[in-house]
Amino acid sequence: MKIWLDGGLQDIESARVSVFDHGLTVGDGIFETVKAVDGRPFALTRHLDRLTRSARGLGLPDPDLDEVRRACAAVLEANPMPFGRLRITYTGGHGPLGSDRGDQGPTLVVALGETARRPDSTAVITVPWTRNERSALAGLKTTSYAENVVALARAHAHGASEALFGNTVGRLCEGTGSNVFVVLDGEIHTPPLASGCLAGITRALAVEWTGARETDLPLDVLERADEIFLTSTLRDIQAVHRVDDRELPGVPGPVTAKAMRVFEERSGDDLDP
Ligand code: PLP
Repeated sequence: MKIWLDGGLQDIESARVSVFDHGLTVGDGIFETVKAVDGRPFALTRHLDRLTRSARGLGLPDPDLDEVRRACAAVLEANPMPFGRLRITYTGGHGPLGSDRGDQGPTLVVALGETARRPDSTAVITVPWTRNERSALAGLKTTSYAENVVALARAHAHGASEALFGNTVGRLCEGTGSNVFVVLDGEIHTPPLASGCLAGITRALAVEWTGARETDLPLDVLERADEIFLTSTLRDIQAVHRVDDRELPGVPGPVTAKAMRVFEERSGDDLDP
């Protein structure tokens, strides 16, 4: 397995970053997960736009997007696989112990992992912890994911594959690694970015392609929604068949099934929409 580090391809067994890299010591970094089908990245331009937005949000220098594109192409070529996840990680780099950044500049790593396609439907839980929609990190795709790791472990312990968060004012927000949509009276709704959720690439495509509306929703909408689905790079559109103890029969429901069809057709046309 070859990864990209320090401006070129390296063997994963020998590639090294500093033990004082701020991505490791203080979670000072950003990332993107990009789906790659038969060696072709999906929606790479949107992912690179978001990488730049996240870098600016953290005050990191803008990533060199030409290098990131070259890195993605090189890693994909060196590691052929039918369905993979490219992981672009960009951190504050080697620095002193503590929170001040060093002056050696950021670290860029691009790696690729083989992954399985997700099932068409899944169970989710809600968690009592909140997303802070007013946090400095709200909406940024940072490597500070420990809260998501804790929530996801709870989901797995309950036989679910995702945990959903509300925000500090009790509104529906997002999952640990996905955005959430609900169907009410035949209309599709998803929380607005002001809820504190990540501007998911799949969310944006689903809104564009299905006409879903961005609506401020109470968390308890999950108890009465006719249908619920998740979106993410690796899930595409995935129906929800259980939320906490509530079973949703007949999944995927008609509106979700149509959204899944539209997504599959549209995303198959163009791997960089
Ligand atoms: N929300 C969070 C917190 C995420 O980490 C992700 C993806 O990893 C998403 C939503 C979905 O975003 P995307 O569709 O760009 O994968």
